[in-house]
Amino acid sequence: MKIGIDLDDTICRTTEIVHKKLEEYAENINLNPLDIMNDESLKEEFFQKELKEAYKEVEIKREAKEVIRRLRNKGNKIYIITSRSDNYHGIDFTQITKDWFQKQNLEVDEMIFSVDGENKAKACKEYQIDLMIEDNPYNFKKIRELGINCILYDDRGKFDLKQDYYTSWLEIEKYIERNH
Ligand SMILES: [Mg+2]
Repeated sequence: MKIGIDLDDTICRTTEIVHKKLEEYAENINLNPLDIMNDESLKEEFFQKELKEAYKEVEIKREAKEVIRRLRNKGNKIYIITSRSDNYHGIDFTQITKDWFQKQNLEVDEMIFSVDGENKAKACKEYQIDLMIEDNPYNFKKIRELGINCILYDDRGKFDLKQDYYTSWLEIEKYIERNH
């Protein structure tokens, strides 16, 4: 089976590290984090300066590595399908992302960058993904609309959905074992 997996906030704790970086950054320039996020140019400047470091330092989620390894060992192919860009105002996040996987000692079969929303759904279709694991409800909806099975991952209590969402990697593994 081809399993597509989102990266930020699905495999790793991106929001947490970005918030931490934002607080430090705001303190350094004597602003409130919200002042930065509410101002387009300050926000862009923050992301351009800090996102690379955040992606370098981001922590992997509990059990993600072990479950992905077991899924691969059972013959599944793992596709990382992420909105991380290869050209964010001239910054290419692909190498930093590949290095991060290497540092984690986590092998995957393919990485697809710069896709979000409808484009992510299209990428799932193009690569004939059998199951996508995603934390973003908009992406989840778009992927399902193209007839691709997708489950929503949420370990931070963000969503109030009653079905098809999973709060840990062990639950995801059980779901796959039950259904495939
Ligand atoms: Mg995500």
